[in-house]
Amino acid sequence: MPNLLNKLVVRPGSRVKLRDIDPGYHGHHESHQEALPDIQSHVQKMDRLQYLMYAERKHSLLIVLQGLDAGGKDGVIRHILTGMNPSGCRVTGFKQPTPEELDHDFLWRVHPHVPGRGEVAIFNRSHYEDVLVVRVHELAPATVWSERYRLINDFEKQLYVENGTTILKFFLYISKEEQLARFKQRLDDPARRWKISSSDYKERKFWPHYIQAFEEMLHRTSTKHAPWYVIPANHKWFRDLAISHIINQSLESLDMKLPKPTVNIADIRRQYDLAQVAAKAS
Ligand code: AMP
Ligand code: MG
Repeated sequence: MPNLLNKLVVRPGSRVKLRDIDPGYHGHHESHQEALPDIQSHVQKMDRLQYLMYAERKHSLLIVLQGLDAGGKDGVIRHILTGMNPSGCRVTGFKQPTPEELDHDFLWRVHPHVPGRGEVAIFNRSHYEDVLVVRVHELAPATVWSERYRLINDFEKQLYVENGTTILKFFLYISKEEQLARFKQRLDDPARRWKISSSDYKERKFWPHYIQAFEEMLHRTSTKHAPWYVIPANHKWFRDLAISHIINQSLESLDMKLPKPTVNIADIRRQYDLAQVAAKAS
């Protein structure tokens, strides 16, 4: 799948027309069953790469998930990222800001959750809500939110320059029909009912406004250091396949290495041999 990354990345400065992208795209696999061995091998590889990142403690990874309601953000976290070791991996969800958060600049609540060296952080929604829902519902004046694209780019560049953070941003793109099908599943399946929110149908009415806000976000904030990927997400298995592939490609390009032991191994081996002799003697 060498070209998948190139196909899905938003080139810095380019304009994406979402209506020209097929949310039902599924690459060369025909079914979940057919894709499963690839997804599983990606997940295993991702686990090894994260272990390496944790051990090396030089780089860090920030994964940003955005999408329309029922786009599959929780599913990505559950299916793919559970392969990672929980030490060194954190998930943060961003909901409506609290009154205290609203009394600060919009990045204030985000900064404490970025990954430290060796860590992976996953954002389920993010600072991008401040140019999405805030824009669509006019929660702040245009003069305020329109400045935020630049502020976000500066913030993300700072994470990269100052802390070696790789940033991967995934926009999960589903069709309006698929969203309705998923809302129906939530109604019909008692195990999913907890996900129903009264705002789901209200937000759906703003679909074209959200598409416009997403398009501008993709145009203004896909950068070399923090690119956006548009993930066709009608097929959950393709979404998982694409995201795990992109994460692995990015982590592999960091050329990470296990650190050298901080102790003299020959010395420690002698101590082990002595301990073994003592254990046998007792
Ligand atoms: P959910 O992800 O379904 O739990 O919903 C979280 C809700 O919080 C969504 O409706 C978001 O639009 C909303 N939200 C997240 N960040 C912000 C923000 N900065 N301003 C306003 N609403 C937000
Ligand atoms: Mg929701």
